Amino acid sequence: MCGIVGYVGSRDATPLLVGGLRRLEYRGYDSAGVAVQQNGKLEIRRAEGKLDNLVTAVAQHPLSGSVGIGHTRWATHGRPTEQNAHPHVDCGAVTAVIHNGIIENFADLKAPLVAAGHRFTSETDTEVVVHLLEDELAKGALLEDAALAVLPRLEGAAALGLISAKDPGKIVAARISNAGGVIVGYGQGENFIASDMPALLEHTRSVSFLGAGELAIVTATAVSFRTLDGKPLTKERTTVTWDPVAAAKSGYRHFMLKEIHEQPRAISDTLLGRVERTTGRVVFDENVRMTDDQVRALPRITLVGCGTAGHAALVGKYLIERLAGIPCDVEIPSEYRYREPVVTNGQLIVAITQSGETVDTLAAMHEAKARGARVLALVNVVGSEATRAADDVIYLHTGPEIAVASSKAYTAMLVDLYLFAIYLGQRRGTVDPERSRQLLAEAFHLPTLIDAVLGQEPKLKALAYRYHGARDFLFLGRGIQYPTALEGALKLKELSYIHAEGTAGGEMKHGINALIDEHMPVVAIALRDPVYRKIVSNIAEVRARAGVVIALAHDDDEEIAGHADEVVRIPRTNELISPALAVVPLQLFAYHVADRRGNDVDQPRNLAKAVTVE
Ligand code: GLU
Repeated sequence: MCGIVGYVGSRDATPLLVGGLRRLEYRGYDSAGVAVQQNGKLEIRRAEGKLDNLVTAVAQHPLSGSVGIGHTRWATHGRPTEQNAHPHVDCGAVTAVIHNGIIENFADLKAPLVAAGHRFTSETDTEVVVHLLEDELAKGALLEDAALAVLPRLEGAAALGLISAKDPGKIVAARISNAGGVIVGYGQGENFIASDMPALLEHTRSVSFLGAGELAIVTATAVSFRTLDGKPLTKERTTVTWDPVAAAKSGYRHFMLKEIHEQPRAISDTLLGRVERTTGRVVFDENVRMTDDQVRALPRITLVGCGTAGHAALVGKYLIERLAGIPCDVEIPSEYRYREPVVTNGQLIVAITQSGETVDTLAAMHEAKARGARVLALVNVVGSEATRAADDVIYLHTGPEIAVASSKAYTAMLVDLYLFAIYLGQRRGTVDPERSRQLLAEAFHLPTLIDAVLGQEPKLKALAYRYHGARDFLFLGRGIQYPTALEGALKLKELSYIHAEGTAGGEMKHGINALIDEHMPVVAIALRDPVYRKIVSNIAEVRARAGVVIALAHDDDEEIAGHADEVVRIPRTNELISPALAVVPLQLFAYHVADRRGNDVDQPRNLAKAVTVE
């Protein structure tokens, strides 16, 4: 979950490292640090808390050197203190390590080191690595050879960056498992490493992605690669086309707000190039390589995703069953990976992940693949691990999503799943050309409709300010809006820290009704779809128990005002695309409640963007 950066060249490394860490602030962290190497020495600055504390520490005691590594930590072992912040150094403070992930067997490795006299100064799992390296370097090994001797002994998940004054002028970076990315960025007379693209974009677009079990040796003028069993490796260079300006806030108070407002554009980008306008066919020529026979024979699809992506998976089930007639189920990846899932011959797994690095989703993909399933990934981040682990890939095309809580990636997931369901329907003959044209026309109209909902922001802000003091919230939905209720509740929890529950309206009588009183606002998604009457009955049940109802309804629904205390309105669209519209006012509502409560909206407490630990 942490951020890793590294620089080797002729410029002053510290500002570049801190600048890189700044770009990774969205990952969520609790402390930060840098280590710089110059003239046979290593210098370290670390600070607890926000990156600004590190900036102050560096300003008070400047560092000089043109080789260095930096880290923002998301603690797994040991409290978030300065002492536990990375980089960690060996007894002689000549070698430093930064680490993303968990070393599961660190206690076993640590005991003999302590017995041999190594002095540990932190409570982290990470520190064992640098003491193990110390022993190898003492034998005269090069840094990469020391790393190759040590890294195979580590169990668990790790992306690492290493420097040593004993072997100056280089960074060794490695990736032990699928958790935690490492990207090498190529410059002119200088090179970089980073865990994520935003840290590199300002300096270079030319990159290589380390795979699991790979190591990079990076100097100012050369980069070479090895596998962790020591074999030389040739890796492809990729040119990344992201616009760095898109990673900045462009005048919005928060990335979250910017990304909510970017949704019309993100959806247009998602649709771009996916539909042949003349024939009305959906084309996924990017990377979906299933043959007609495979598509026709699909016996079952399992959709997996964590958090918001899991809600997209629930919508995906509804869409695929309805449009393509294929039985679907939805699984939580962290559950799926640890049971004995039954995979039917020819089955497809659709793994949904914004970052493409979510460790549980990656594990579920590997588990399914090992059991013979074909794996399709729906991913935003180009070149991420999920894109390599999958047989087929559909990109979201939304550009970088920086706020920890997802918004535009969610709506893009819904649109991609909508297109994918139509695509399957076309190839299986369950969606005829006429129906397909209608469905696609609605998708192309969606950005305009979302714009109209965004135009209601002042009203939603006023509503948020009226209810920001509530302790609990309930979100009710039915049918295809059940996942919208879950997502509305999750957004509110993540951003505002208000307890919120999302539930299917039909479940109310089975327990939830006991919670209802005048103190718990109930947001009911009551669109004119086949279950409208049912949700109106649920609203009546709430009101009969003195509950306060905020209804989300179509703008031409005159009846609803008689049932609800407050009404938020959205334009009509077809039922199947409507979750991508209905969620937008709920995102804005959650944003303004959180902002009114003074929360750090872009980096909610205890959360991180890419969850690369279990
Ligand atoms: N497990 C390490 C620690 O707790 C690294 C955590 C991270 O990925 O930031 O220090």
